[in-house]
Amino acid sequence: AKSAGRNGFCFFDAQMNADTRERLSLELDLRQALVRGEFVLHYQPIVDIHNGRLLAAEALVRWQHPVLGMIAPDRFIRVAEQSGLIVEIGEWVLNEACRQMMLWQAAGLPRFVVSVNLSAVQFRRGNLEALIGSALSRFGLNPSCLELELTESILLQDSAAFIDMLYRLKTLGVKLSIDDFGTGYSNLAYLQRFRVDKLKIDQSFVRTLLGNTQDQAIVTAIIQMAKSLNLLTTAEGIEDDSIRRLLAELGCDQGQGYLFARPLPAQEFMAFAQRTQLP
Ligand code: C2E
Ligand code: CA
Ligand code: CA
Ligand code: CA
Repeated sequence: AKSAGRNGFCFFDAQMNADTRERLSLELDLRQALVRGEFVLHYQPIVDIHNGRLLAAEALVRWQHPVLGMIAPDRFIRVAEQSGLIVEIGEWVLNEACRQMMLWQAAGLPRFVVSVNLSAVQFRRGNLEALIGSALSRFGLNPSCLELELTESILLQDSAAFIDMLYRLKTLGVKLSIDDFGTGYSNLAYLQRFRVDKLKIDQSFVRTLLGNTQDQAIVTAIIQMAKSLNLLTTAEGIEDDSIRRLLAELGCDQGQGYLFARPLPAQEFMAFAQRTQLP
């Protein structure tokens, strides 16, 4: 059905109608997925780039759809952000990651950090600090075990309320890292201003590192800068050992990627952790 706008301009063309319908139906499905408990977290190991020792796990959300199977976050996070549903999904992610961390600690695994991804929308709405504080205390966790991954675009929100929130999160004792570093805006002043702990070097630089002298120059510069600011670096998307070795030579601290492990269901992650713990 077509409807004419106030000026007689027909803005609901067939394609837009189809896109809008698809988005609305996805939004509805996401709402139901929350209620029905269809989201799951997988955990990807982050290891010492020199010796492979387990240091941390990144929690990555998946949607276990009853008909379509496992759906990757790239297919629903954007709509979740646009609709504001990411606030509730993000709250579930935080609680679930903390609950899992508690179970791993209770099972006697050595302590490692668990990181969760935060969306800018979560900063604008809802009381993040209270949410994180209560998740940590509910599961009896030390705040330094939890790391929040922020993208550079989040740090562009230069409002007083936002800066205040970041300071309160740091005061709580959680760690902050900048995700996909190098792909965003290069206002580097925020690194110290927001007391960031770690830079995660984006996979787009890592994948092509061996053949591409420009990418090598960028990665070298990021690692040098991080060192002089006393920040840790994690390289993302490491798929082969020659790239791991080059990054280690350049002074990168931590690695994440298929070379070490894919994101794993909690049970498999535990097996990985026990395996890599052995001498
Ligand atoms: P990200 O935060 O940059 O996460 C890293 C992505 O790279 C993950 O994709 C991971 O599976 C993939 N990856 C890791 N190592 C390799 C590798 O060696 N090779 C290749 N080809 N890929 C690798 P995934 O799980 O599909 O997540 C995609 C994005 O969705 C994430 O990118 C993140 O931006 C977003 N996301 C995931 N979970 C959440 C969440 O709970 N909340 C929010 N707001 N965003 C999330
Ligand atoms: Ca991330
Ligand atoms: Ca990333
Ligand atoms: Ca990414």
